[in-house]
Amino acid sequence: MSEVQLRGVTKSFPDSHGGRTDVLHGVDIVAPEGQFVVLLGPSGCGKSTSLRIIAGLESATGGDVLIDGQRVNDVPAAKRRIAMVFQNYALYPHLSVLENIVFGLRVRKVPKRQRQERGLEAARKVGLDPYLDRKPSQLSGGQRQRAALARALVSDSKVVLMDEPLSNLDAKLRHQMRIELRNLQRDLGLTVIYVTHDQVEAMTMADHVVVMREGSVAQAAAPIDLYTEPADTEVASFIGSPP
Ligand code: ADP
Ligand code: MG
Repeated sequence: MSEVQLRGVTKSFPDSHGGRTDVLHGVDIVAPEGQFVVLLGPSGCGKSTSLRIIAGLESATGGDVLIDGQRVNDVPAAKRRIAMVFQNYALYPHLSVLENIVFGLRVRKVPKRQRQERGLEAARKVGLDPYLDRKPSQLSGGQRQRAALARALVSDSKVVLMDEPLSNLDAKLRHQMRIELRNLQRDLGLTVIYVTHDQVEAMTMADHVVVMREGSVAQAAAPIDLYTEPADTEVASFIGSPP
């Protein structure tokens, strides 16, 4: 099982005047097992903060974070079995592809033989096994993206969070990677929560789109329903539905 849920999640950060600013105002998100859920919204609406709260990299001020129905607010990130792929891939330039993929296992003191085996298996899943000894600088943008994904997969997480993972790629590669990511997600049965501000990306990739606006969920629906029955004119114009 690997269903992820935010229930009434609020978040405030300290501001520069000694007070606090609310950036999430009671966010509800459900990512059912094996589904590809996209958080869509303009810059600053709270997508990354929501994702970081799910990952455990940030704590919720209020509300519940649930994995398979269990409240995990107090479970540290490393124990949530959730993997995260960042926008800039965050690959280490001085390490090989394989070393990058298994880096987290090394930190967790998994024995070397096991690291190599699991690293190779993850590399195979994303088609990177011919490039294990290369450095990130010797990879194409798409291959770097795959290396970042393999590093997420090596931990055996069934939930993968992605924060604008394709935004550094050119248009053609982005298009190709959308298809590749979706195929991998389906083949591996992953639950993916994918953040983007790109409407086309959301509408073409998602099983379910969560439209966010100023720290709240404006609408959550399948792409077709969002398109034909937007909740209000703001959602309609944001996703480009006909008037
Ligand atoms: P998005 O990913 O949708 O662009 P974010 O979740 O990054 O939005 O940010 C939402 C709001 O929270 C923004 O106004 C941002 O400035 C603010 N914010 C995010 N992280 C912090 C932080 N660590 N401290 C203070 N404010 C933050
Ligand atoms: Mg962001």
